[in-house]
Amino acid sequence: MVQLERGNLTCREPMDRHVSWRAGGVAARCYAPRNRQDLISFVTDRPGSEMLYVVGLGSNLLVRDGGLDATVVLMHGALRETEVNHDGTHGTLLDVEAGVAAPKVARMAGRMGLEGAEFLAGIPGTLGGALAMNAGCYGSQTWDHVVSVMTLDRNGKVRVRQPDDYDIGYRHVALKEVVTGGLEPGGEWFLSARLAFTPGSAARAREKMRDLLSRRVATQPLDQPNAGSIFRNPEGGFAARLIESCGLKGARVGQAQVSPRHANFIVNLGGATASDIESLILEVQEEVWARQGVKLVMEVRIVGQSEKQAEVA
Ligand SMILES: Cc1cc2nc3c(=O)[nH]c(=O)nc-3n(C[C@H](O)[C@H](O)[C@H](O)COP(=O)(O)OP(=O)(O)OC[C@H]3O[C@@H](n4cnc5c(N)ncnc54)[C@H](O)[C@@H]3O)c2cc1C
Repeated sequence: MVQLERGNLTCREPMDRHVSWRAGGVAARCYAPRNRQDLISFVTDRPGSEMLYVVGLGSNLLVRDGGLDATVVLMHGALRETEVNHDGTHGTLLDVEAGVAAPKVARMAGRMGLEGAEFLAGIPGTLGGALAMNAGCYGSQTWDHVVSVMTLDRNGKVRVRQPDDYDIGYRHVALKEVVTGGLEPGGEWFLSARLAFTPGSAARAREKMRDLLSRRVATQPLDQPNAGSIFRNPEGGFAARLIESCGLKGARVGQAQVSPRHANFIVNLGGATASDIESLILEVQEEVWARQGVKLVMEVRIVGQSEKQAEVA
């Protein structure tokens, strides 16, 4: 019998190590699986009452200072396989596991002379995170390229699903069917995706990636810990413009600051707490509502409990 390789389980894992904001509380437990098979077996074996929460590269995530009473499962570095396939309808297909970094998918597609994946080059998360968020930029989004996905539910059941199984919108993906079983809302995780891009030129793809990345370097505070855009753009407008027009660039709570370079980014100046960041987000939301009458909707995900809630518990 082949012995299953097991991953690594730790307790009280500081989540500031696993999120791009470099801030926040601890997770009660944290599991880094070895591979897909190990992940499936881990999920199947954990007590049904235990909450599991999947984390990719933590580039859109904050865990409150009182911590997360769950087992965090780290996908990056664990589900990292890629495979090239072909079919009569789409031609070349990329089968990519959820823990693979999105920029790697962009580079892989580009090297193969496929175009359309360039936007992923500047998204510093995993493919799993990009599927969960329908990440996108510059007019492209992840689900435009999904042929099918493989998912895992809390009971360890693996399914292949089609895009039609989901409600998909701007930074929004939700399974139409309600799957019960105690994972985070949605009930299933992404294990991998089958992606299709357009046959084209490797040189053009490389050039486009270079162009998109230089636009980011020019406009985003990439040298300071951040989580990308805090708010979704409202219909027909830009969150950054609304925030800037309220004079909020540079506004601070503790060590969290609305980036003077990009008003829809909040940066950690060094030692910010999750509470500093969340308070600043709420302040910005209230100001824009009061002055512009627009209710900005958060794009970043905030989980766990505040320090006060943790004391009471
Ligand atoms: C500098 C910077 C620039 C950014 N630019 C963009 C941009 O242009 N466009 C854009 O859309 N986003 C952008 N982001 C935000 C972020 O990179 C994306 O949302 C990314 O897709 C998140 O991936 P992740 O692996 O880091 O997810 P995480 O932050 O780890 O998780 C985000 C959410 O996805 C869930 N999740 C993660 N993996 C899975 C999985 N396998 N199955 C089910 N759920 C899962 C998590 O539970 C969590 O709720 C940017 C962030 C930064 C820091």
